[in-house]
Amino acid sequence: MDYQQLLENIYQEILPYAKEGKQADYIPELAKVNPDQFGMFLHSIYGETASLGSADTRFSIQSISKVFALAICLSIKGDELWKRVGREPSGTAFNSLIQLEIEKGVPRNPFVNAGAIVMADILLSHFENPEREFLNFVREVSGEPTIDYNREVAESEREFGYLNAAIANLLKYHGTIENDIESVLHFYFLMCSVEMSCRELSLAFLAFANHRRKFNYAGISLTASQVKRINAIMQTCGFYDEAGEFAYFVGLPGKSGVGGGIVAIHPLQYSVVVWSPRLNSKGNSVMGMKALELLTTETKESIF
Ligand code: GLU
Repeated sequence: MDYQQLLENIYQEILPYAKEGKQADYIPELAKVNPDQFGMFLHSIYGETASLGSADTRFSIQSISKVFALAICLSIKGDELWKRVGREPSGTAFNSLIQLEIEKGVPRNPFVNAGAIVMADILLSHFENPEREFLNFVREVSGEPTIDYNREVAESEREFGYLNAAIANLLKYHGTIENDIESVLHFYFLMCSVEMSCRELSLAFLAFANHRRKFNYAGISLTASQVKRINAIMQTCGFYDEAGEFAYFVGLPGKSGVGGGIVAIHPLQYSVVVWSPRLNSKGNSVMGMKALELLTTETKESIF
């Protein structure tokens, strides 16, 4: 498969969408990002690569960080994790409070904000230095030791993070989180603020694309079955309340973030990352969704 040629053809086809949507501005630091950027990187499990546009520009990975948090939490808690957080798609917005109230403080899944806030709490309780451990894992799984948090983004999000603070309060009220709300939110926002490029993310997600390879990074190890289950959760819960659309049009497990990044995995074939900050009304990158739809259409291969 000539992935490079394929990506170049895709780029021509998505150009008409270049001005559609707008970048997330509820996090003031993200509103400053130039919305007219685009990057894409594909890494096959056999070592082939293909790259487009600003594939080496780092961006805010935001909710994509929730996959890393899930990997660490599953590694340390095993199936006990599912007592604290569910694994069903939510059908509501990523920062919704309604479901959490009805379901008495047990988040639907690890990829809605409430679920990730619970995972932040688990990591805070487990590690002496969770900030360092989380970063070590991300650096090791991507093979890139310079990856870091962007503390300005994290602070700017905290300043206006009223909804996430409400979620954390509701969780605390129901006894789902152990640590104090401020520390949990601080760590949650920090995880979201990690900056990575398409190339770095696609390398990191190869570890999830190839469950036959040993998963052991910075002391975090998962079985092949746990890796496959993380993919299952990406498939059903990875795109806010657009997971059905993504399954319908793209047909791969994946995860998006409000920084405009989307990772997708074709198990035992490749991991691909696309980034473009303009988002649709559900919070997913417009060009990113289109590019991935074309990728599985042109290759005539998805998981279905
Ligand atoms: N830090 C963002 C928030 O909590 C993450 C949202 C996202 O990327 O889905 O609102």
